[in-house]
Amino acid sequence: MEGRDAGPAVEETEVDAALRADKAGPRSQWANGQCVLAMPSRSVLNPRFDLSQCRASLENEGFQVPVCDLEAPLGTALDAPSVRRYLVLNSSLFYFIMTPVMYMVLWCAVFSTLHLYITVSDYWVLCLSVSLVSIFLTTAVIFVLQHKKKELNVNVDVRLIQVNERTVKHKLLVAVADWVQNCRGHMQLYFVYWDMSHCLTALTDTLEERSFVGNETQCKLERKMSHLVLVTEVGAAELEDEPASDERRPLLRREGARDDAPSSRDDARVTANRSLVPGESLLPQDKAFRLLMTYSSAYVKLLVTERLSGPSHYRLRPGRNHCAAAPLCLCQYITNKILR
Ligand SMILES: [Zn+2]
Repeated sequence: MEGRDAGPAVEETEVDAALRADKAGPRSQWANGQCVLAMPSRSVLNPRFDLSQCRASLENEGFQVPVCDLEAPLGTALDAPSVRRYLVLNSSLFYFIMTPVMYMVLWCAVFSTLHLYITVSDYWVLCLSVSLVSIFLTTAVIFVLQHKKKELNVNVDVRLIQVNERTVKHKLLVAVADWVQNCRGHMQLYFVYWDMSHCLTALTDTLEERSFVGNETQCKLERKMSHLVLVTEVGAAELEDEPASDERRPLLRREGARDDAPSSRDDARVTANRSLVPGESLLPQDKAFRLLMTYSSAYVKLLVTERLSGPSHYRLRPGRNHCAAAPLCLCQYITNKILR
């Protein structure tokens, strides 16, 4: 988050101002959830995106996003070699290649284990049993991995929070999605149109309603988001100078910032753990904005790969869904996932 001064209230005002300015402009043609741009990576094994081309393409679609709100934060979030390695090793193509390898390894392991303890006259019975067990185990592992891919990913989605905090002012949300089609891996950087004002109002109302029932909501947030910890590297002196509360600190630091302004106290770097749980003392609107930003990239990833699923009663209440392209909008996704 950008801190209290540039926090939710200011973001909201900017969003409203942009909405008023653009009512008759080219952006009025867009609806929430509509994909504005899908930029493929240069290579599946080296996932880099042409960010200047992204900005030019967005300009053609009527979105004037300055470099400081697009290329700079995206470069910080995705260009680190460790992040690119993670993208490759966590891609659907990698799982696709690993599946038959894992099946063969499991088959050999189960066969050699059973062969030691069971004496079978008919080898085909043993082979069939081993194949069935291996298929079951492989399917279970793939199912767990696929389920994990639907969750908020700390190494990619969380890194994109800072990007979305900036692009949401231009009514855009960003996510990285990948899939396998015709035995070929595809990885794309998606820019989806999203006017956050309706979701912010709805989620703020939900949190205000829940605030009357004690701190049950805060307990739920802490229980369901406690594993979301951001590890950052900061200077020891810098850490001491920061206020005790986590709530007003930016979630992600700009890694280049410290190089531009070297500290006069050349202190040792230490790692600090930052929780993504919104603090209890935050106003409902601030909490709502922080939740919307935290889950924005994970939501867009599921939206563009058509993996969003919601209970049927959401479909029967279209007035509460602020996204025409999916069964759930962002605020409903968060309510469903975190507040239930
Ligand atoms: Zn919504």
